[in-house]
Amino acid sequence: LMQLFRPLDMLGFVYRTVRQGLIDMAAMFQLMDSEVEVEDRPGAPALAIRQPTITFDNVVFGYDQDRTILHGLSFHVPVGGHIAIVGPSGAGKSTIARLLFRFYDPWSGRILIDGQDISEVTQASVRAAIGIVPQDSVLFNDTVGYNIAYGRAGATDEDVLAAAQGAAILPFIEKLPQGFDTEVGERGLKLSGGEKQRVAIARTLVKNPPILVLDEATSALDSRTEQDILDTLHRVSENRTSLSIAHRLSTIADADEILVLNEGRMAEKGSHSALLERRGLYADMWNRQQNESGAEAEIAE
Ligand code: ATP
Repeated sequence: LMQLFRPLDMLGFVYRTVRQGLIDMAAMFQLMDSEVEVEDRPGAPALAIRQPTITFDNVVFGYDQDRTILHGLSFHVPVGGHIAIVGPSGAGKSTIARLLFRFYDPWSGRILIDGQDISEVTQASVRAAIGIVPQDSVLFNDTVGYNIAYGRAGATDEDVLAAAQGAAILPFIEKLPQGFDTEVGERGLKLSGGEKQRVAIARTLVKNPPILVLDEATSALDSRTEQDILDTLHRVSENRTSLSIAHRLSTIADADEILVLNEGRMAEKGSHSALLERRGLYADMWNRQQNESGAEAEIAE
């Protein structure tokens, strides 16, 4: 991975956004080994966001020619809307996020942000508009402050402080021997999974993107920490348009709309309660997970 970043470093800050995008994506989707497949067309303008909406319009996509993964997917996330995508493993949930980040172009159909086709604008501007809070955050071997400030070139100390507060990690940082100057990562202080995730949330707050992609599979956290982080994420998403990729259904029950994906098709969509009433795939998944967590609780007793 560092071989990839070193030449980008030499090219300077112009690549900062792209590089940040790569780090986020690498962390979220373990894409380290795959090639970036799309290029900006010459003279492509930057995405101009006034109304952060997301639209998938009949999107057909596969990684290999002989296997279609998304079969004509359509959905719309309105300004400030919170949409969650659920579905069995391999249904295509992460693929949707990768397409939104324009790691690939659809075979047919369109993906729009604020009405603009993302294949017609620069990738850097698309990635600058989207904040990702990945499940496993990557921290640099540098100070806590640097790790937060990295969200945006030119972030001031005040920005970093406000972001740490917003991510509810300020009290923790203030207790560190050197505060924001404390070294973290492999060569410094080891942070817990929850602390790392809060640093990632703070970094996203510094970036201040109009669109958030949340990977809510906070599997490495105990349930108390997970609930605290979810509360923080909900607060952070309040004035933004968000797309959550959920593996555990309990984390997204209050989304405006839940899209249930199955084998690359929209099997169901609706609110949590409407989907439970339907007694379909979502209700099955919900009941199964309730039983599983019940069984876990019994073992713990
Ligand atoms: P999970 O809940 O297990 O993370 P998911 O719904 O996010 O699953 P995706 O990661 O979107 O699923 O994958 C959808 C399908 O696309 C899977 O069958 C997967 O094997 C395939 N796939 C994913 N990435 C690639 C790739 N880079 N090349 C080829 N096939 C891929």
